Amino acid sequence: MQFIDLQAQYQHLKNRIDTRIQTVLDHGKYILGPEVQEFEEQLSNYVGVKHTIGVANGTDALQLALMALGVSNGDAVFVPTFTFFASAEVVPLVGATAIFADINEKTYNICPVDLEAKIEKTLKEGSLVPKVIIAVDLFGLPADYAAIKRIADKYNLYVIEDAAQGFGGSINDKKAGSFGDIATTSFFPAKPLGCYGDGGAAFTNDDDLAEIIRSLRVHGKGKDKYDNVRIGLNSRLDTIQAAVLIEKLIEFPIELEARQVVANRYSGALEDKFYIPFLPQGFKSSWAQYTIQAKKGDRKEPMAQLKNAGIPSVVYYGTNMHEQTAFKKLGYKHYNLSQAETTAKSVFSLPMHPYMLEDQQMRIISSLNGT
Ligand SMILES: *Cc1c(COP(=O)(O)O)cnc(C)c1O
Repeated sequence: MQFIDLQAQYQHLKNRIDTRIQTVLDHGKYILGPEVQEFEEQLSNYVGVKHTIGVANGTDALQLALMALGVSNGDAVFVPTFTFFASAEVVPLVGATAIFADINEKTYNICPVDLEAKIEKTLKEGSLVPKVIIAVDLFGLPADYAAIKRIADKYNLYVIEDAAQGFGGSINDKKAGSFGDIATTSFFPAKPLGCYGDGGAAFTNDDDLAEIIRSLRVHGKGKDKYDNVRIGLNSRLDTIQAAVLIEKLIEFPIELEARQVVANRYSGALEDKFYIPFLPQGFKSSWAQYTIQAKKGDRKEPMAQLKNAGIPSVVYYGTNMHEQTAFKKLGYKHYNLSQAETTAKSVFSLPMHPYMLEDQQMRIISSLNGT
């Protein structure tokens, strides 16, 4: 059994995707060809934002967002400690300092109360200037943007939404990718909307920020790429990947419904013995991961049971950012991240994809329930 079955999806969409790729091979505009703009326009419509900028991957999208906001030395960027490394890695990359915040026990997303405490503490210490909050839509569930926006307004901070996992999720029908001053996503193959290589995008309603990111992704271009008005990156979405994504985006709403069916089936069958994912009122998850904790005992036993039955399960994430060697080497100090530390020791994720068959899923459920 596969943790995420990308082959099943390809078989389903094969004719459409093959045709689209062939079109690119025929016209030969491999870099920023017409499919890139076509896909950017479709994404803007889907997410409900004014501008989408296709870039090379989700990590670059985050870095470009920080660069566009002018974040650099002496700035503090607040990031949840329980996330994928890329959400935090980009902060020292632009010369700024990451301040880690704790998470909510039930949503696994950044805790607004601790976020505000960490901002106050940073202000009191006085050596860094609070500049940006990077909120992450972990496992597909959008973060608490109402609370985050209140805090951002109070302290005059920018918000970046890391929707690499959340793409497809929503809050009261407002889509992930539309929160914050800039939002970013990833089209890494295993993400909810994935391509066949690396890819990513940045979203914004701000005309100036969009123009800066468009410039930054092509070496800080001005009139053209040989007129360079700022230091940038080489970070474009490939035309072939855009072609693949155009076809996948058409199928995406149907896949999201299929993911919801899988999630409902898991939740109904597992809630007695496990803490199942929690969705606040009005929130929808893209189910990038289906993540649970055992109510009794730790994760060792259920994960071993699954393994014996030939079923993969994965720990996302066992190491918080403040526990990562790379950040320890930077000499980062951290305070009171106890919820994230507890969570990292107990969560594990089950196979989740839109093409899972019911009898496959029943095997997983039986194994976990010990029946
Ligand atoms: C995958 C991921 C990224 C990075 O995306 P890449 O395309 O792999 O660079 C950033 N943030 C989160 C939360 C992710 O899951």
